[in-house]
Amino acid sequence: MQQHAGNSFTTLLLDWHQTNPRELPWKDTRDPYLIWLSEIILQQTRVEQGTPYYLRFKKAYPTVQALAKAPLDDVLKNWEGLGYYSRARNMHETARYIHLQLNNVFPNSYKELLQLKGVGPYTAAAIASFAFNLPTAVVDGNVYRVLSRYFGIFTPIDSGAGKKEFALLADQLIDSEDPAGYNQAIMNFGAIQCVPAKPDCQRCPLAEQCQAFLQEQIEVLPVKAKAKPKKDRYFNYIVINYQQQTLLEKRQEQDIWKGLYQFPLVEYEGPEIEFDVLLALLESSFPDMYKLINKQSVSKPFRQTLSHRFIHARFWEFHLNQLPDFDNLRFQLVQRSKLSNFALPRIIDWYLRDKSLYLELV
Ligand code: SF4
Repeated sequence: MQQHAGNSFTTLLLDWHQTNPRELPWKDTRDPYLIWLSEIILQQTRVEQGTPYYLRFKKAYPTVQALAKAPLDDVLKNWEGLGYYSRARNMHETARYIHLQLNNVFPNSYKELLQLKGVGPYTAAAIASFAFNLPTAVVDGNVYRVLSRYFGIFTPIDSGAGKKEFALLADQLIDSEDPAGYNQAIMNFGAIQCVPAKPDCQRCPLAEQCQAFLQEQIEVLPVKAKAKPKKDRYFNYIVINYQQQTLLEKRQEQDIWKGLYQFPLVEYEGPEIEFDVLLALLESSFPDMYKLINKQSVSKPFRQTLSHRFIHARFWEFHLNQLPDFDNLRFQLVQRSKLSNFALPRIIDWYLRDKSLYLELV
């Protein structure tokens, strides 16, 4: 790294930000609760997609107390479609913690913020700088990209060594006079100017000292260690219809989509499950159900891509002439017309909207 590269980087970046401000709905506030809310919503989410959710949450839960007092089901329903539901659950738990244990007062140091459930180094740094003007540098995907390119750093950003190296560099670069302005500037620069594919380097004020530009390494940086292959999971949802009603259960296990509602589920090791096997697996939850089936069909396959897995789902629809026995602590009978009141995984929502290509089973 050149001797004065850090100083000139920060100056050039702040100059760029002066002429390229970005209007974001949460940028006019110093309320740590609202900043936290926006940061949690924006993790793994584009600004365009996250903004309506932020506005919806701000309206429904204007204070940490309001969020803490809301039922988790309502919070999950408002979150529906954003994915990564553990973020919403952690957010609710943290709001309750701040309400009950901290008397609604948000922690105001980086260290204490980091103790909150669901708050990692990035979010803690963002809240500390935006709400309390502390000199804590944010490091997210945008920041990794900008720093690795400008300084020509080839250490993989997802390795332990890389995380340390970038965190150290970011802390050296932050403007201690205006940490919030610096953090905002580098995040915006990564989002608008130094974008992942084909950045407009010819019109970049940092190009003269940008190592990736000078050495034609823009396509290569940032370097990532090899991604793990995604795992496949095969879900067979059992849609048990009786008159206008259907059975739902709430996901309780420590697994994806905890707290969301679903049709009774049979997870199987492979893509094809034989009908007899399916009925046999259902036997423990719904004894003798097969005797009650009037009509049955199976949906086309649906596939949802998550961060570490692919979910493959089929929906087996059964119309029964009588309800089977079922454990009414685990399952509940709901009107099909009321399904949209429940927080459902997206793949179930897709199925409910798409009624084409059903195969009748005989
Ligand atoms: S010159 Fe290109 S790669 Fe370098 S900082 Fe600017 S936009 Fe990013």
